[in-house]
Amino acid sequence: MSRDKFELTDNVMYVKGVGPRRADLMAKLNIATKYDLLTHYPRTYENHTSLTKISELVEGATALVVGTIFDVSSRKVRNLTIINATLEDKTGELQLTWFNQDYLLKKLRDGVRVLVIGKIKYDSWSGDMAMTVQKVTFLDKGEMPELGIMPIYSSTAALSQNVMRTAVKNLLSSMPPLKEILPQKLLDEQDLISLDRASRMIHFPKNAEELNAARRRLAFDELFMIQCGLMLIKRETQDERRGISHATNGRLVNGVLNNLPFALTDDQRKVFLEVSADMESKIPMRRLIQGDVGSGKTVVALLALVKAVDGGWQSAFMAPTEILAAQHFETFTKLLDGLGIRVGLLSAKVTRTAKMREEIYRKISEHEFDIVIGTHALIQEGVKFAKLGLVVTDEQHRFGVSQRSTLEKKSDVLPDMLVMTATPIPRTMTLTIYGDLDVSLIKHLPPGRKPIKTSVKTLRGRKKVYEFVLEEILAGRQAYVVCPLIERSESETLADIESAEEIFDNLSNGIFADVSCALLHGKMKPREKDEIMERFRDGEIKLLVATTVIEVGVDVPNAVVMVVEHAERFGLAQLHQLRGRVGRGSAKSYCILISDMKEDLSRVRLNAMETTNDGFQLAEEDLKLRGPGQFFGEAQHGLPDLKIADVFRDVDLLIQARDAAQVFVDDAENLNYFANLRTNIALAYGDKFSQITEA
Ligand code: ADP
Ligand code: MG
Repeated sequence: MSRDKFELTDNVMYVKGVGPRRADLMAKLNIATKYDLLTHYPRTYENHTSLTKISELVEGATALVVGTIFDVSSRKVRNLTIINATLEDKTGELQLTWFNQDYLLKKLRDGVRVLVIGKIKYDSWSGDMAMTVQKVTFLDKGEMPELGIMPIYSSTAALSQNVMRTAVKNLLSSMPPLKEILPQKLLDEQDLISLDRASRMIHFPKNAEELNAARRRLAFDELFMIQCGLMLIKRETQDERRGISHATNGRLVNGVLNNLPFALTDDQRKVFLEVSADMESKIPMRRLIQGDVGSGKTVVALLALVKAVDGGWQSAFMAPTEILAAQHFETFTKLLDGLGIRVGLLSAKVTRTAKMREEIYRKISEHEFDIVIGTHALIQEGVKFAKLGLVVTDEQHRFGVSQRSTLEKKSDVLPDMLVMTATPIPRTMTLTIYGDLDVSLIKHLPPGRKPIKTSVKTLRGRKKVYEFVLEEILAGRQAYVVCPLIERSESETLADIESAEEIFDNLSNGIFADVSCALLHGKMKPREKDEIMERFRDGEIKLLVATTVIEVGVDVPNAVVMVVEHAERFGLAQLHQLRGRVGRGSAKSYCILISDMKEDLSRVRLNAMETTNDGFQLAEEDLKLRGPGQFFGEAQHGLPDLKIADVFRDVDLLIQARDAAQVFVDDAENLNYFANLRTNIALAYGDKFSQITEA
């Protein structure tokens, strides 16, 4: 399969040692192209830099030893094959053991020289040190083993580390030097090595210094590219000629304020003033409102939507789910009573038939609706607004940067843009994810909220917990039970986790046999989910067993108990979101976290839930304890995946990258580099930054 031209976008099967079969396996690791393989950075490394003499072996350490084999024997214990051998060097003897590697028997002959790697323990039978061999390499006479830092790749069982290493090695040796994407001046200033060197060294560093230099360069690139991307987006949108200056008078806004059954909190007022000022300015608004669950972001959004209508524009509100869209439609309709504002709901239900859909689309495009509420169906092709002046996106972390930009591309006039999130993201992360947005913060909850009583229980206390839940249900209230998995997992690490299905079976056939229960999870059809959610909202279903599909925004004031099973499996931010589902009515609410707490860390984390109700504090805590990957759970944040940078550990680098990006983007001399940069952003992040990569 020879090809004369080397392209990073080539299919990975053109790499020597890969081929179609292995390419299929690699596809499972999201490696489709040579570029993907090049940037499939090692998950970790093993230090194989020095050999240890047998007399100097230390119990408990993982060691590399070179010696000569003798006394090979094997035996079968039930279905297990055990091979034993002795390894000898000039200083002593080491007992070796292999399990279930029959194929080695042929090669393990007296007198062969090998390099073995494994953990050392003391063998009280022989009085020698012993090793269970993790890896053996056969050496020719006089051959010295290859030492260095060995890359360990995330891989599947069918692709051994050796196959991965060989593939990467072959790729690197066939690859012409990578074109540098950053100006030499910037490299000098930031003390960074070349992209080509870094890309090679990250896979096979000779020592810790090389590894650090490579990692630093590549992490810088990632952060720098994202920052440049966000800044280019921001620059394109900060164009006075394309913005809308919304009306300054506030007839309708005052109308809504009069309709509210409560007064705005100081934070809500302050944030709305910031939003108002942005909307009145000619520069398109790009603002994020961060506020804990229940802090009252919706009202602020409504005021903004209405402000746009006040000046004769249409506004749109995007919710992450149909249920939420419907819920907001109801709330808004009530609060807009008597103001003559026409509100439309765009949902799967009202667009069932082509005819219905056309009718709704027509009303939007002919300005018969002032405010349109929907899910991201709102940004799909086909929906044309007559005069769209503002788009509000709720629970932004469910949408990506890409969706944000799709809307922006739709017209020459850039509508104002407001996004809201309850995910309490620490500042440095906000910068990475929302670097193109200005941030407003709602810090305090509206007055009069009863704190939710949170308690942590072990499995021993589980029965009591559900007896308590039953009491609450019999007293007329409702409850949630949230479980981490839908079905029982086959993976070893998750084997102990009961699934939502099992827990549902146990509860609905056991203590809750006479109560109306339902199961809700992400594998169900949207229609089914909506129906169950509606029946729960109407009070027909009393106990809802669910996965985290209910995490975002659902408002059922009569639900007062949130039980979380296997609570240790969740991030604190996520638990906090789940807890925010209760405590929305006048009755006292409870959040009960059930966990076996086998690990000390689980106990520390879950206890933090008992002691604070502050989402931001919990988020910081969780980041410290678990790191950012865990913190977000699955990639729900819309952030381009970071392959190598770590937004927590690399805070300093992030700040440097941001400052450098600012200078870089502002310097016209760098225009030459933009083409390269765009290509690389496109390679690395695909559609996440379509707006700039397609420019
Ligand atoms: P979130 O920020 O999580 O979206 P919501 O906007 O849904 O929160 O508000 C949560 C609840 O608080 C709603 O029932 C809302 O009516 C109520 N609320 C909002 N603002 C105030 C306020 N200033 N005073 C009293 N209650 C308020
Ligand atoms: Mg909300």
